[in-house]
Amino acid sequence: MAGDILIIDGVATNRIVLKVKLLASQYRVRPCATLNEARTEIAASLPDLILLDISNDAERMHAFCQSLKADANTNLIPIIATGGFKTPRDRVVALEAGADDVLTKPFDDHILQARIRSLLRGRDARQELRMREDTRTALGFAEACDGFKAPARVVAAVTTDTLAPDLSQLSQTLENVQMTSLQAECLTDRDLNSGSTDLFLLDFRAGLSDDNVLFRILSELRTRSTTRHAGILVLLPEDARHAAAMALDLGASDTVCSTVDAGEIRHRCAVLIQAKLEADALRRTVETGLEAAITDPLTGLFNRRYAMPHLSRLSAQSRKNGRQFAIMVLDLDHFKAINDTYGHKVGDEILRQTASRLQGNLRAVDLLARIGGEEFLVAIPNSDVFHARTAAERLRKLISGAPFFVGPDQKEVRVTMSVGVSLSDGQEATDVVDDLGELVSAADVALYAAKSGGRNKVSLSAA
Ligand code: GH3
Ligand code: MG
Ligand code: MG
Repeated sequence: MAGDILIIDGVATNRIVLKVKLLASQYRVRPCATLNEARTEIAASLPDLILLDISNDAERMHAFCQSLKADANTNLIPIIATGGFKTPRDRVVALEAGADDVLTKPFDDHILQARIRSLLRGRDARQELRMREDTRTALGFAEACDGFKAPARVVAAVTTDTLAPDLSQLSQTLENVQMTSLQAECLTDRDLNSGSTDLFLLDFRAGLSDDNVLFRILSELRTRSTTRHAGILVLLPEDARHAAAMALDLGASDTVCSTVDAGEIRHRCAVLIQAKLEADALRRTVETGLEAAITDPLTGLFNRRYAMPHLSRLSAQSRKNGRQFAIMVLDLDHFKAINDTYGHKVGDEILRQTASRLQGNLRAVDLLARIGGEEFLVAIPNSDVFHARTAAERLRKLISGAPFFVGPDQKEVRVTMSVGVSLSDGQEATDVVDDLGELVSAADVALYAAKSGGRNKVSLSAA
């Protein structure tokens, strides 16, 4: 399932049309006619995204957005507000109330779908960072000190001779911002490599002679390690719907069209800068001193010390949103014999390569840790039996499917791995620790079954 979307719209036909479109894209859809219905649905299980029609009674709808954003349980759920938005200011009011995006009706399907994908990706990344932060706090690490705040660095890339007035105003209307501008085609290697930009504004409102220029810039910015965390706001002509949807899929953080006013651009820039600085701060706390304490020095993966509190958070989150998560214990087969045959150094190299194969095949939201000598743990949020089994099979094949080449003479060594899988029940449980302990034990029992069943196997816990 791609995600769980709550539609709130007073008009039955609107709900039905949207539902059909979203179901076709594999989303789970829960339509609600009223805010009360929506509150009941949210209390039953948290949606991944909310589509909120604010055509009627905008004030109540704004208050609803504000209440979701003020509640720590719901504030990461992206909200797309839809409506007539008679004036540009109406859009800004909705954004200020907490909507993550606004779409003026009638809106383009491709844009809607691309926006949903982009917001869900952003939500996943923030959720992961927040979980790491919670785990860090649970481990007893002190808060990072805030200290001096350097100005946020904004680069405006333009296709015209001069910077548009609404962009040049930004350095005055946005707090603590340092802005430079350059020609879009001059987003050269040197500029891209500086790694100090917090927000790129790509102003293509004057027109795109060739969409590929924009797409190339976006993929460059998103692939380079120095710029991939920067916010990117793309400004486009009103009719460039295809380019806008494509830009979002290629990693633009946000796009706006030429009809929006300076206030909306300012608001969106402020949100993007804030999100980038917060993510940087969270990343830094994980990257500094903490790293050594929670990292396995051989493979660079998280260790058991990190994994356990992280699993507790995952378990609490899963009980809150009613979604199952999967735990896998992965153990290399006959590893002692590999050490005995090829030596401990080769064994170490195989452990490192195993870690990197596994890591390269998991998403950022999945947890991978080395919890014992030749034993790894994987936790997959929002999973079900089918998904968990498929993922476990994929990981198993990743090890047995291709030989390892190790040592100075690149000796070929074949390795297999057994996997035990258990799934949380996604239900309210009274004792988190016991519940989690049982889940890990269940995965261990399943692993034992995989071993006694002949190894190089995946086994699912019967519990
Ligand atoms: P099974 O298929 O039942 O899992 O057999 P096994 O040989 O893999 O399991 P066993 O528990 O008997 O042996 C694990 C071996 O892993 C023994 C130990 O020397 C080796 N090992 C543990 N940690 C490391 C390490 O950091 N580096 C290397 N090279 N070997 C390690
Ligand atoms: Mg083993
Ligand atoms: Mg073992």
